[in-house]
Amino acid sequence: EPTLMDKIVSLCKRRGFVFPASEIYGGIGNTYDYGPLGVELIRRVKEAWWGATVTEREDVVGLDSAIIQNPQTWITSGHVGGFTDPMVDCKKCKGRFRADKLEDARCPEKPSKRPGECDGELTEPREFNLMFKTTIGPVEETGSTAYLRPETAQGIFLNFKNVLESARAKPPFGIAQIGKSFRNEITPGNFVFRTREFEQAEMEFFVPPAEEQQWFDFWVKERFDWYVRHGIDPAKLRLRVHEDKELAHYSTATSDIEYEYPFGWGELEGIACRTDFDLKRHSEASGTDLLFFDPQTKEHYTPFVIEPAGGINRMALTFLIDAYEEQQLEKDTRVVLHLHPSIAPITVAVLPLVKKEGMPEKAREIGAMLRRARYSTSYDEKAAIGRRYRRQDEAGTPFCVTIDGETLTENTVTLRHRDSMEQERVPVAELRGRIDAAIEA
Ligand code: ATP
Repeated sequence: EPTLMDKIVSLCKRRGFVFPASEIYGGIGNTYDYGPLGVELIRRVKEAWWGATVTEREDVVGLDSAIIQNPQTWITSGHVGGFTDPMVDCKKCKGRFRADKLEDARCPEKPSKRPGECDGELTEPREFNLMFKTTIGPVEETGSTAYLRPETAQGIFLNFKNVLESARAKPPFGIAQIGKSFRNEITPGNFVFRTREFEQAEMEFFVPPAEEQQWFDFWVKERFDWYVRHGIDPAKLRLRVHEDKELAHYSTATSDIEYEYPFGWGELEGIACRTDFDLKRHSEASGTDLLFFDPQTKEHYTPFVIEPAGGINRMALTFLIDAYEEQQLEKDTRVVLHLHPSIAPITVAVLPLVKKEGMPEKAREIGAMLRRARYSTSYDEKAAIGRRYRRQDEAGTPFCVTIDGETLTENTVTLRHRDSMEQERVPVAELRGRIDAAIEA
């Protein structure tokens, strides 16, 4: 009997959400490519995040910094010295495991067993640095080592002064960034939950030190509500406050938004108080003052930072898992993704009832009108209408528009709703209004 995760992985492959990377060469282990539906899903997740974090706010601006920065960046930030996970090896099966996550790990030789239960002996834990190294320039020589960023945040700190001056920003204000990060994870897994290459959505919100707590509370609540607004079941979400001993060295408070995955509760996003740690360290190491001058008090100070940091791929996976349902109907079961209309890869499917009597032409006309209005659409004229509805349910398409004989004379269509399966007669002129109202999150 396949597990829920097995079913999600299989649906992702079958419908073109996620493919194993380099598949024709046998794959490259826990690395994935996003197919036509997956890339749209990822785009929606990013747009929803950017919309709520940047576009809809007057106090946050965007940034897109380089993946490879001056390597001093990562010495100053503490990553060269301390961005490590404790690793143990199994002397028999050569499996490698995170020493702090042994309960979650399985022996590669006997996957039903825990690490070491293949009668192997586990080594003592040793620290393994998670940063990917590369070299810059045509020859490998000393001093040419560089790193692929393991987080996007540092690129924001490096540009603090540039943004402050060019955008005339004043705390409280934020700088947001979405981009790829790389971590040489010891045990990637659970599909796209943990991979070595992934996309992060991070925002550094700079505040006067006295306002730290109030803004931390604000962003924890804002980020939690964002998931609920976009359709995640609040009963499957929880906040977990980090205990003092697990706090990162730069942090005075961190709360994780966790989701109850089929494999247990896991971190979806973390919101951290990073104090003035990063700006101060980069000021000292670079000799460039990263300070804010407050014209009212005539004082220079280093702002404190509140950071919501989430993974786009992990968010997308969470939306998929949360949306998945096998619904028992009278005669059969239907697989449906109850994705929020703002997140669904295809917003509206356009379906001629039959492939004749001018219906395909009319459907194409309505489809073109919807595409010009920037909706993501899908046109399908194959198979019986019921089968076509089911195909769209499985892809998470919230609306189907069916063109029939009446469309040609009355200019009305059948609007079919994914979740309720209800159908109603709607004038073509009202379609956009209806769809827009549903997309609003
Ligand atoms: P974990 O404890 O799961 O390794 P972390 O605490 O190191 O995560 P952060 O450094 O806080 O994670 O990164 C912020 C977010 O980036 C995470 O909440 C997660 O959504 C995402 N993320 C981190 N590592 C990965 C990864 N290897 N693959 C996919 N997403 C990731």
